[in-house]
Amino acid sequence: MQKRPLTVTPIRAFHDNYIWLLSTGGNRCAVVDPGDGEVVASHLKTHRLELDTILITHHHPDHIGGVAHLVSLWQPEVIGPEDQRISNRNTTVRESDTVHLNRLGLRFDVIDVPGHTRTHIAFFGHGCLFPGDTLFSAGCGRLFEGTAEQMQSSLDKLAALPAATRIYCAHEYTQSNCEFALAVEPENAALIEYSAWVNERRAADQPTLPSTIEKERACNPFLRTREAPVVDSARELDPTVQAGATTMGVIRAWKDRF
Ligand code: ZN
Ligand code: FE
Repeated sequence: MQKRPLTVTPIRAFHDNYIWLLSTGGNRCAVVDPGDGEVVASHLKTHRLELDTILITHHHPDHIGGVAHLVSLWQPEVIGPEDQRISNRNTTVRESDTVHLNRLGLRFDVIDVPGHTRTHIAFFGHGCLFPGDTLFSAGCGRLFEGTAEQMQSSLDKLAALPAATRIYCAHEYTQSNCEFALAVEPENAALIEYSAWVNERRAADQPTLPSTIEKERACNPFLRTREAPVVDSARELDPTVQAGATTMGVIRAWKDRF
């Protein structure tokens, strides 16, 4: 179905957002979570691209703020979750739906990932995951509208994807996330090594993304809430926690004040 390989390019927006641009070599493209319409429009004009599709993971303004402007310029299909707070959406999707971007030769499976928001979704296809603000490298989204149990089950779904899956998170939070992850697991060798690489990348103003599921399973404390060192760290704050969701709740609350 796909004629040429998928290329994923970051468009930087605001302080630390990435708007991911999906292209398969033609003059049409898609973007994920265009919080800023101006930076997307100017990138597309510079590269003589037309916008075919907008994929939306959740309703926060830094993810949808540019949708109306881009719709006025290119009338793309706007695909997102059922949520009244997302306007301009013309296709509504939920878990186990597949979205077809026929003109780009792309298709993505939809995964429900509540926790950061109630209606948050992720897109997975072509070896790529777009998790919005649910999964960050070495971190996860804040629990604005969901519970630790929901975040645990959402992250369990993402962690079960193939190890080589490339993860295109919506924010460059990796460096500060690594500092927190090292507080949770100071002796995690994979994390120590990753953190050093992340510091080099950020010193050179380079993105740390995409990450991979394999890397996150090794380094991300929110994907490691059943690993003894993470559970033990959570128990220092709350001796009653068990592996899994209660550990998730304690380390997420710890990160909120870190
Ligand atoms: Zn958000
Ligand atoms: Fe965000």
